[in-house]
Amino acid sequence: MLDGLEFQTRTQCPACEERDHISLWRGQFDDADVARNIDLYHYSGDWRGALGTAPFDLVKCKACHFKYHQYIIDNQSLNTVYGEWADAEQARRFEAAHVPTKVDRWGYHTQLAKLVLRLRRLIGRDTDAPRILDFGCGDGALLRMARGFGFDACGIDVSASRSGAALNDGYRIYSDFEALDAADPEPFDAIVLSQVLEHVADPLDLLKALEARLAPEGVLFVAVPDTSGVTVPRSFQEFTLVQPIEHINAFTPDSLRDLARRAGFTPVRRPSAFVTTRARDVLRAAMNWFFQPKTTDVFLQRTDS
Ligand SMILES: [Zn+2]
Repeated sequence: MLDGLEFQTRTQCPACEERDHISLWRGQFDDADVARNIDLYHYSGDWRGALGTAPFDLVKCKACHFKYHQYIIDNQSLNTVYGEWADAEQARRFEAAHVPTKVDRWGYHTQLAKLVLRLRRLIGRDTDAPRILDFGCGDGALLRMARGFGFDACGIDVSASRSGAALNDGYRIYSDFEALDAADPEPFDAIVLSQVLEHVADPLDLLKALEARLAPEGVLFVAVPDTSGVTVPRSFQEFTLVQPIEHINAFTPDSLRDLARRAGFTPVRRPSAFVTTRARDVLRAAMNWFFQPKTTDVFLQRTDS
């Protein structure tokens, strides 16, 4: 049995500091439909015992329209959630329940290769060994791909259990910025922040911290879930997008770009990348370059560079 988790209240918008907001979806964790969805996460900890009748409230800023959860688990308790509830065993159970059994390794690694090629294209400096940081590197799949292309790769991850495989391969994995700065103080040519920003209490602060560690001619790639149109979830898939324990910031293509601009970044066009042996895939990818719809994965450069 765990102790109850501690909450903190965000009294102002994490993007623009406005205090006025409207409530989109509120309730308690033990509301029947909410509890049923949280059970589907198969957490390793006793979430009912810890969260009890705690309230949640997904709100929208009246000034900038950023969507965020007002009541969030405090930093200390987050270690409980990501260190104990969402451990490797939980990830295995969640994937067994929700991810198709035939994992598409081809598609996954094709996407990773294209990401690395695009980052390399956008780095405005001539170097044989560009420095890349993967913030939230997990099991290190991107680090391995980047190293294969000649990058000097390192990562930050709070969960040692999830990044164990990368550590065993000799990668430099740090637990936080303090450890990174002490051991690896040089600026980075590329930084990847994939599926992280929706989890953190102060997303603007994190983007500014990355901006400070990015070389002037460097590139940042950010990817988050797109919660466009989601208020009160109507399915488990929608629930995962605004799940009040872990997904405390609910981005849209516009709000992601707005936050990035506030942190000193400017969005740039996605370069073409072809990893295929089929000519028709090349044609389709080339068409996609002309018609780039706004999404919640975006390449960014420092505005001051
Ligand atoms: Zn706002």
